[in-house]
Amino acid sequence: MRPEILFPLFAPITSLKGVGPRIAPALERIAGPLVRDLLFLAPHGLIQRPCLAVAEVGPEEVATLRVTVTEHLRPRSPQQPLRIRAEDETGRIDLVWFGNASRGIEGRLPVGARRLISGRVERFGLDLQMVHPDYVVEEARAGEIPEHETVYPAGGGLAPRLVRRFALAALERAPDLPEWQDPAWQAGRGFPAWLDALRVLHSPSSEADLSPASAARSRLAYDELLAHQLAMAQRRSHRRSGAAPRLPGSALAGRIEAALPFRLTPDQTSALGDIRSDLGGGVRMSRLLQGDVGSGKTVVAMLALGDAAAAGAQSVLMAPTEILARQHFETLAAPMEAQGIRVILLTGRDRGPGRREKLQRLADGSAGVAVGTHALFQDEVKFARLALAVIDEQHRFGVGERQRLLDKGEGVHLLSMSATPIPRTLELAAYGDLDVSRIVGKPPGRTPVATRAAPMTRVAEVEDRLVAAVLGGAQAFWICPLVSESELIDLKAAEQRALELQGRLGSRVGLVHGKLPPAEKDAVMADFASGKVRVLVATTVVEVGVNVPNATIMVIEQAERFGLAQLHQLRGRVGRGRAESACVLLYDPPLSDTAQRRLDILRRSDDGFAIAETDLELRGGGDALGLRQSGFPDYVFVDPFVHRDLILAAGDDARLVLARDPDFSTPRGQALRVLQALFDWRPETGMKGA
Ligand code: ADP
Ligand code: MG
Repeated sequence: MRPEILFPLFAPITSLKGVGPRIAPALERIAGPLVRDLLFLAPHGLIQRPCLAVAEVGPEEVATLRVTVTEHLRPRSPQQPLRIRAEDETGRIDLVWFGNASRGIEGRLPVGARRLISGRVERFGLDLQMVHPDYVVEEARAGEIPEHETVYPAGGGLAPRLVRRFALAALERAPDLPEWQDPAWQAGRGFPAWLDALRVLHSPSSEADLSPASAARSRLAYDELLAHQLAMAQRRSHRRSGAAPRLPGSALAGRIEAALPFRLTPDQTSALGDIRSDLGGGVRMSRLLQGDVGSGKTVVAMLALGDAAAAGAQSVLMAPTEILARQHFETLAAPMEAQGIRVILLTGRDRGPGRREKLQRLADGSAGVAVGTHALFQDEVKFARLALAVIDEQHRFGVGERQRLLDKGEGVHLLSMSATPIPRTLELAAYGDLDVSRIVGKPPGRTPVATRAAPMTRVAEVEDRLVAAVLGGAQAFWICPLVSESELIDLKAAEQRALELQGRLGSRVGLVHGKLPPAEKDAVMADFASGKVRVLVATTVVEVGVNVPNATIMVIEQAERFGLAQLHQLRGRVGRGRAESACVLLYDPPLSDTAQRRLDILRRSDDGFAIAETDLELRGGGDALGLRQSGFPDYVFVDPFVHRDLILAAGDDARLVLARDPDFSTPRGQALRVLQALFDWRPETGMKGA
């Protein structure tokens, strides 16, 4: 229930004076539907309007001038602007209005009037002029021109100044709220009170106030993080409070493990240990298994599935694509069937009697493990006793989809797997409601991938070497990124590349892209996996986890456009066997310093976590999109780089609060309820509610 004190902030933006049906949609796109969203809209710039004499102003400078109107120069044709000539003791300036904007201006600026005008000054021939001044006011109302003016995101035909006006109106509505921050923490950080912080947000007095590192913005970021961490901690403890089937480590899984052609690495063993202590403890597991592509997560999952089967329970392994599901099925089926566990594969391809039979096996419990795609979410898919769900590439599924799977049994244990490395400092924000196990070391026998960067001007040379290697028996990926606004243009570039390679290698070259029907895409991928296709040209990263051990060459065009984590993942598709592998990062010169250093990290390191961490530092959190793709929430105040230490502090704070005051009954607890309602994190979606 929302506390009454917050009602004014949860009113629609249309409740603000001046926000009518014309303005509301544009404003909603910029900020959101609620007064709160406008209140939380941070300005991104500050215009200083120093009061200057005409002779003091440089061109392209914003200033406020005190002038006297001397002359009206009316347009002699509709194309010409209205010019109003004005001056002070030091010089002359023309005020200029085009078209409709000039309406009524002459009346407001009669000859001889003293006025304050403010705007950007520019040079026009030898003269100075100001086109469409931001302010024109009488001397007596000089106070209406702010000395520093915040600039808000604008768009949809809304001028930044209009957005500013409504943001300030939202600020007027903001109530004084009881303090929810721990007093010692707040004092130690020098954080202002909530309302004061918002005042600084909207009326900063210097550039320093605009910085995300300022005390005011850090306070708001901390509030946002704390609300989020509380929501995640509550969700976690709620999940852990329910009963869950006990699935102890089993001799059966031990036999599967013993039959593997390799031994588990220490990281795999310890991840499996984490999982087993969850599954065997009767507490519902919510665990994330993080590890690079090829680090051996699937084997660990298989042994957990073995434990479930040994306990007489069923389990599922979900993959985001048909081909990945098929690969998982091929990995699991033989070792598990050898121990008498029936494994079935269910995908969108299954139809008719075959599908009915599989559904029957799941419903009557005769199949122990189901491997599949989204097809497993469907309502007709029922289990006799589902106890464990493993979700590969978990960020490719919606929270709702995962939930539908978990709802197919009672207290179903969840194991998520992800190959998208996220810096450790950000892990708590992305996965605060999950326990995390990591596989850092790679299985033995991998040769590091020789990585080098080359300018696009050397593409012919790269092609020559690739052709020679392919004729010698190698397989290669050639990745063309999605870069332009138009997918069609990108597709053309990839088609062109494929054609060129086909000219030299014929039908040994295949092309996959996002617009290809799934069946055709799968067919090309399958041909690549079987070795019929030797070079796979791809526009987007179609199949992240696909395993083709014979592929040893990875060429990535316009590598500077990719996030490092993504480049690292792409590279992870080669170097799976014992043969030497190579990765060539082609770039469009010239490379910026940062871009150069980013590509350098890839040459030096093969540790996805370290790469993600360095990338964050180099870009200072600038890669918002990349971060969101790896599961980082869409915060309004939090800057993932600047506020990374606050993430950890908020996590500690939230856990401490839940331990000491789980019912939020202390005064601080009461205030924290208001905080939570203010941000209103919806645990089901990981998003802010409206
Ligand atoms: P991930 O799911 O993390 O991308 P996989 O589980 O598909 O990785 O493993 C990639 C390859 O490594 C598979 O061929 C698998 O058999 C092999 N593998 C896994 N663990 C080991 C190990 N401990 N020693 C040797 N090879 C391993
Ligand atoms: Mg995998």
